Amino acid sequence: MKIPTEPIGSIPRPDELIDAIAGKPNSKPFDVLYEKAIDDTLTEFVKTGSPVITDGEQTKSSFATYPLEGLTNLASNGVTINFEDGHTRQLPVLTSGPFRYGNYAVKYLDAARKKTDMPVKQAVISASALSLIYPQEGIPGYSQAEFINDLLNECEKDVRQCLEHGAYKVQMDFTEGRLSLKLDPSGGVLKHFIGLNNQVFDRFTKEEQQKLGVHVCPGGDHDSTHSADIDYADFLPELFNLHVSNFYLQLASEPDRIKVLKIIKQYLKQDQTAFVGVIDVLNPEVETKETVRDRVLEAAQYIPLHQLGTTDDCGFSPFCDDVSTKRETAFAKIKARVDGTRLAEQKLFN
Ligand SMILES: [Zn+2]
Repeated sequence: MKIPTEPIGSIPRPDELIDAIAGKPNSKPFDVLYEKAIDDTLTEFVKTGSPVITDGEQTKSSFATYPLEGLTNLASNGVTINFEDGHTRQLPVLTSGPFRYGNYAVKYLDAARKKTDMPVKQAVISASALSLIYPQEGIPGYSQAEFINDLLNECEKDVRQCLEHGAYKVQMDFTEGRLSLKLDPSGGVLKHFIGLNNQVFDRFTKEEQQKLGVHVCPGGDHDSTHSADIDYADFLPELFNLHVSNFYLQLASEPDRIKVLKIIKQYLKQDQTAFVGVIDVLNPEVETKETVRDRVLEAAQYIPLHQLGTTDDCGFSPFCDDVSTKRETAFAKIKARVDGTRLAEQKLFN
């Protein structure tokens, strides 16, 4: 395709897997359910016509917490993220060092690539998100500087393993970027987050950075957001300072898309590609391909064609227990993205 189109990552888990996660008795063993969920997700993904697919994050606990699975040096009372509808998600807190991931994203990539020849994209969590698990009061004998040093090494390893194992793209999820402006309107925390993630990206060559990307959004859980009220205008100029080539930007659900597109146009650097969100993942109504086409044509008025791609606004189910979106809806929306992007191509490249 002339206009590249890629998913973000997650797909709602099948009902029987969600039931098992919720602790329903007499569920099948998790390894059986996981295997089936991955198989079915890859099959359905191919049917959408999407040229790039994912494992749907079927076996991840969440986009943010998978590296913490199995760790014993954590307590439950960490940073809380508040969503508009009143629900919260809470991160754990580190209780002792050294910090090592309990689990790396390459595991998911390998499991998917064993089953398909299609290009598979892999999402990883940002260093900045995991930096939040270090307690404010510190850890005796394990300074914050030591923690950050370990964190950067682990995050680099997480990304590098995926590149080495043939990921089509490695996308760092950076949903806390926009949220940071809510917690610190001065932008100091955002600058700190960008700097931290660049310390990871700077460990990769220019060629490798072309396979790296960053996803941003105002959060998406139980059909609710955590930072949609933060103006993109305050966020995007800083975002494009990240040393990666690909930006996967929520856009379809923005109230004023033209305003956002103008900012992207102003700040997108020459070697960067903007994958704009043409699917609103929080809206249960499936977009028509014509709606998607029009959103692409709209974006093409502001972003040079060779720097334009399309994506979904977010993953469809970043947390494993989220049942707000139906699986069929997610795949129908992905198909609309692919078909609508093709329609726009026919208009733009004639
Ligand atoms: Zn997102």
